[in-house]
Amino acid sequence: MEQTLVILKPSAIERGLVGEILTRIQNKGLIITGMKMMQLDEKILREHYAHLVDRPFFPSIVESMTASPVICMVLKGVDAVEVFRKMTGVTNGRKAEPGTLRGDFCMSGQANIVHASDSVENAKIEINRFFKPEEVLDYTPANVKFLYADDEIKLR
Ligand code: ADP
Repeated sequence: MEQTLVILKPSAIERGLVGEILTRIQNKGLIITGMKMMQLDEKILREHYAHLVDRPFFPSIVESMTASPVICMVLKGVDAVEVFRKMTGVTNGRKAEPGTLRGDFCMSGQANIVHASDSVENAKIEINRFFKPEEVLDYTPANVKFLYADDEIKLR
C-alpha cells in the first residue's frame, strides 16, 4: 500500500488540535505506521520547503514551523497520498472547503495546521527525510479486511 508523510504543524499542536486530526485520520481508515514528536530547525526546513526558500515569506515559514515541536506521521492506505491531500484541503485555510482539515480548523495560509505530501514520489523522499527506516513499522491492523475489499488491496 502507498504511504504519505504528514506533519502536524505548531499551529495544530499549540491549538490543541492533535486529537481532532488523529480522529479524522483513524475514522477515514488511514493506517498510522510511524509517529513521532520532533523539534524542526531551519536546516531541515530548507530541504523540506526547498521550492519556497527564495520567497520573501520563507523566514516567516521557518519561524512558524519552529515555534513549537511538531508531530510527524507516516500514513498507509490505498492511494494514501491523494486521499490525505483531499482531506487536508487547499493551502489557505480561508479558501479550503468545509469538511477538509484546513477548511474546518484554520483561518491562515501559513498557520495551516498540517503538511501533506503532494505526490507519491515526494512522499518517499519526505518519509526518508523525517524517519529512519526502522521508525516506520511494517504494520497492518487486524481490521484491514473491513477497510477494503480483498481485490482492492491485492491489486496493489
Ligand atoms: P501546501 O502545504 O498546501 O502543499 P505549499 O507547498 O505551496 O503548500 O507551501 C508550503 C507551506 O508554506 C504552506 O503550507 C504554508 O504553511 C506556507 N506558505 C505557502 N505559501 C505561503 C505564503 N504566500 N505566505 C506564507 N506562507 C506560505
